[in-house]
Amino acid sequence: MTVAAPFPRPLETALGFFYPETCALCGDERADAKSGYVGAKCWQQVRFIRPPFCERCGLPFDGDLTTTFECTNCREMELHFSSARSAVIAKTAVLEVIHRFKYQRQLWFEAFLADLLLREALPVLRGQKWDFIAPVPLHPVRHREREFNQAELLARHLSSGAKIPLNIKLLRRVSPTMTQTLLTREQRAKNMRGAFAVRRGVKLNGEKIILVDDVFTTGATTSACAKALKAAGAGDVCVWTVARGL
Ligand SMILES: [Zn+2]
Ligand SMILES: [Zn+2]
Repeated sequence: MTVAAPFPRPLETALGFFYPETCALCGDERADAKSGYVGAKCWQQVRFIRPPFCERCGLPFDGDLTTTFECTNCREMELHFSSARSAVIAKTAVLEVIHRFKYQRQLWFEAFLADLLLREALPVLRGQKWDFIAPVPLHPVRHREREFNQAELLARHLSSGAKIPLNIKLLRRVSPTMTQTLLTREQRAKNMRGAFAVRRGVKLNGEKIILVDDVFTTGATTSACAKALKAAGAGDVCVWTVARGL
């Protein structure tokens, strides 16, 4: 005999013990697991990216556009993916969440970030055909320090949501590369040159691959990954990230 539980299930009780029912971001409003532990006030700061945006790299653009638009970022860079899309703009609350998730191990934000990505990516991917989802890899040294790869966690959510197989064995990061934050567009591209390679034995035969990362800034990182995948035989590479820097 099964009985509908009038009380929270044991797992929720256990999580509730560790995750207080307040906004994990501001600590000043109510929030629950369903909202990803982010309250309504903080949610209001989230800016979803809506057209018009650059067809190629997804950079949002002010005003009306009737023709296909390629932005200055794309014109100045050699991008190896066919298109990049991001769910939200990387500022205020979202940027703070990503920072705390990545560098302060506030892992309860995983659900919130995955939710942002899936809300925007799933409707688009539904009508498309892709063979694999691959995360941007961390260098093994960085991976050991951080103990998780944020891109891989997000890719895992997208894979199960979109029902497209996850493949974490395609790419590896050859050089640890310094942080990109303070670099110019040209420096970022140079910093990423040769930073990624496909793993030994990987042979692709026209597969279409979705690359996943947390933040897209100039596209230097994801383009370097796409370059390695295309050189190994990938037919097409697109990019999805949670957030887009402006
Ligand atoms: Zn809040
Ligand atoms: Zn662009």
